[in-house]
Amino acid sequence: MIAARAMQIPPFIVMDVMEKAAEIERRGIDVVHMEVGEPDFDTPSCIVEAGCRAMKEGRTHYTHSMGVLQLREAICEHYHERYGVEVSPERVIVTAGTSPGLFLVFSALLEPGDEVVLSDPHYACYPHFVRFLQGRPRFVEVEERDGFQYKVDRIREALSAATKAIVINSPSNPTGNLLDADRMAAIAGMGPMVISDEIYHGLVYAGEEHSILEFTDRAVVLNGFSKLYAMTGWRLGYLILPEELVRPIQKIHQNFFISANDFVQWAGVAALREAHEDVQRMRSIYNERRITMIQGLRRLGFGITVEPTGAFYVLANARHYCQESYALAFDILENAHVGVAPGIDFGRNAEGYLRFSYATSKERIEEGLDRIGRYLARRFGR
Ligand code: PMP
Repeated sequence: MIAARAMQIPPFIVMDVMEKAAEIERRGIDVVHMEVGEPDFDTPSCIVEAGCRAMKEGRTHYTHSMGVLQLREAICEHYHERYGVEVSPERVIVTAGTSPGLFLVFSALLEPGDEVVLSDPHYACYPHFVRFLQGRPRFVEVEERDGFQYKVDRIREALSAATKAIVINSPSNPTGNLLDADRMAAIAGMGPMVISDEIYHGLVYAGEEHSILEFTDRAVVLNGFSKLYAMTGWRLGYLILPEELVRPIQKIHQNFFISANDFVQWAGVAALREAHEDVQRMRSIYNERRITMIQGLRRLGFGITVEPTGAFYVLANARHYCQESYALAFDILENAHVGVAPGIDFGRNAEGYLRFSYATSKERIEEGLDRIGRYLARRFGR
């Protein structure tokens, strides 16, 4: 009765950890959350005020299916100021988050059997989207010793007549590392469409992130407001598309989603135009937390070969404790009362790793690390 694609889509394990954590909390037990990829900050007040104002002014209707023009213009200005690239609002489609954007792009590109190159590890949901839409993920392993960067030669080896697209995500979830400009340029020139998930842009603490549009126009950019502006619950994102993809994706968007939320889009304009200082403040706090997290994890014996410098994640090697990250993550949750994400959620190559999010306060990070330290001593005698 139920379609195979609905039966077969795997869960997003991080959400399962969160839900299990909530169950433990209902028993009155305190849990430290390091599993969630969600800022603990409130949305900056200039954005909240713009959203409320828009609602009061009656911005409560459907909008143009591609999004409010003023927001699309602000997005183009942002890409021009930040990366020096020229984008016109006619190439921007505003969506209710980056996740619907991923769905739209893969549904516009994939025929059954088409391959999409993904790094392993990768953001958990990418292969789920691809398989749901009858494509095939083609994984390219990235290594801890190389800072989890894509190796250009390995991508080349993975290309075939069936390759439709190459996905890049810098800064990356789950590794927190950046892809350097040379490798990005090489990937841009390989032939297949590059899909660049730029949702963690702006959350960079050393080095510099690049947009794929600096290297080619034959690319899809995905971006959103969830992470940089602490706006996960507002649901706002966007696509920057090559011309030929605009109308097909606009039609899918009209049918499936109609438009993103009206007043939320006006809050998005304020985010791009007014929240600069708030972003700086949050970024410098994340950076302090990053250092606390890396030092603390190393003290506990977790392996971090190359320090992550972006997003808010550390993918730490726990193989000398346990090969099975799923079992280890749930054991830590139940016995240390700390939520962590198991590496296996992000690909086979991240098995034996745990992902720690530092989108939580320094005090909570220290508390969580203390609890894990005591757990490791009890469980493994270290
Ligand atoms: N891409 C990546 C790499 C992510 O980490 C996330 C959120 N965890 C998303 C896309 C989706 O974000 P949203 O739908 O909130 O924009």
